[in-house]
Amino acid sequence: MFRKMLIANRGEIAVRIIRACRELGIQSVAVFSDVDRASLHVLLADEAYAIGPAPSRESYLRIDKLMDVARRTSCDAVHPGYGFLAENPALPRACADERVTFIGPPPEAMEALGSKTAARQLASRVEVPTVPGTLDPVETPEEAQVLAQHIGYPVLLKAVAGGGGMGMRLVASDAEFPSAWRDASSEAFNAFGDARLYLEKYLSKPRHIEIQILADAHGRVVSLGERECSLQRRHQKVVEEAPSPVLTPELRRKMGEAAVRLARAGGYSNAGTVEFLVDADLNFYFLEVNTRLQVEHPVTEQVTGLDLVKLQIAIAAGHRLPFEWQSVAPRGHAIESRVYAEDPDNNFFPSPGKILSHRAPSGPGIRLDEGVYEGWTVPTDYDPLLSKLIAWGNSREESIARLRRALEEYSITGIKTNVGLFRCILAEPEFLRGEIHTRWLDEFLRAPARSSETGKSADSVESHSAAADAALIAAALCHISQNGVKPGVAPPAETTSRWKLEGRREQLDRMP
Ligand code: ADP
Repeated sequence: MFRKMLIANRGEIAVRIIRACRELGIQSVAVFSDVDRASLHVLLADEAYAIGPAPSRESYLRIDKLMDVARRTSCDAVHPGYGFLAENPALPRACADERVTFIGPPPEAMEALGSKTAARQLASRVEVPTVPGTLDPVETPEEAQVLAQHIGYPVLLKAVAGGGGMGMRLVASDAEFPSAWRDASSEAFNAFGDARLYLEKYLSKPRHIEIQILADAHGRVVSLGERECSLQRRHQKVVEEAPSPVLTPELRRKMGEAAVRLARAGGYSNAGTVEFLVDADLNFYFLEVNTRLQVEHPVTEQVTGLDLVKLQIAIAAGHRLPFEWQSVAPRGHAIESRVYAEDPDNNFFPSPGKILSHRAPSGPGIRLDEGVYEGWTVPTDYDPLLSKLIAWGNSREESIARLRRALEEYSITGIKTNVGLFRCILAEPEFLRGEIHTRWLDEFLRAPARSSETGKSADSVESHSAAADAALIAAALCHISQNGVKPGVAPPAETTSRWKLEGRREQLDRMP
């Protein structure tokens, strides 16, 4: 097993990995940009080192700086988390040069499966159905337009190097084609340094259902079942659950086998996800492979009882997957909501700033994977994901009821969050019946009656906290008028961990 691990990430996923390291007796080494100096992952890790200014291309994306820290701290492993460098084959290659183990797939498998067109070609070779469209990047807009007519509108222009919905444009007609091509290719170039595009038929209101796979370095590949991720805002996941409300055991088996076949063909090892779109007739089509841990991995952990991060580490250390895992059946139901610092009343604009108060939910069936604390300032520079709130129950109904209860307990003030939105979604009859698709949430948010409801609920969170603040101020004034102000009383909540913070700062300042 490893002795010391560099965590090349930040936020809740860095915290999640540190926790796995601690349980395994592995020392953890965090890295941080200037604005992350007091972040939770820095406070929790055994050691922490500065790697540069806030922009990620000058810090979290700098392989040279990460390798420098790994070398100087004698790390024998590097975990990339998700995002940043997690799907960049240059990181595992740099790790190999430094003789440290990369916790993830081999770079060749990342290349074979990480490029959307390469993965589509491989999928069609091993008879995994793909969304109709082109298997190769398309060279010119003129050629692409002819192909679009052939596929039939609406089509989706997608970036070969895509991710996070960037470089993706829906095209409904010939007239829209030239400008959509220009926008998609320039966005793809800015985001990935690769302007290449390909075409897919735009499926109407599909479900997004993905298969979690695990592959060891000895040729064993298993499916850990599906996650339903159809609740999306602008093609990005917001709520995930497992099992899917629509999958039959037969379809689960078929999709699991397709995912395993593809992973095997790509020479994959470690944890990965094969994403599919599923139409109303339950036909499934391969979408893409994510060659890393997913944000929504806790949903699978809750229904399988497995710890995916610890398994990633064990696989990277050369351990074999137990044979019994060929058929892991889900137990109960789990659902996750992604809590963002964003303002649902202002087009979900990011809402960075200082967290003035924070009360975490708990109780039966609740798990909170968080990267924040009271008094911490959410920076403007990164994805504003604050936490993932996950509920488990014996049935879908019970896990939803638990999530609703936990969302009522969850209170974050000082910044806006989307907590109120989840309370609305989880009360919707269509959602409760499992009648959802990838456009459902966007349609729900556009409906005028509903959007005011959503707003009201978000407001009520704020007014609840305003009322709570008023009550606290009244209590404090009453206390002062009765007892006077005592010198040297404890400073307010922001500084509760001051000792720890200052201690850590000293440690950071003394770093090699
Ligand atoms: P990215 O990697 O940029 O996130 P994906 O290919 O994973 O892009 O797709 C993200 C989401 O976009 C899907 O979950 C789905 O909602 C939508 N989408 C992608 N391709 C199609 C398609 N061909 N038809 C309909 N919706 C699609």
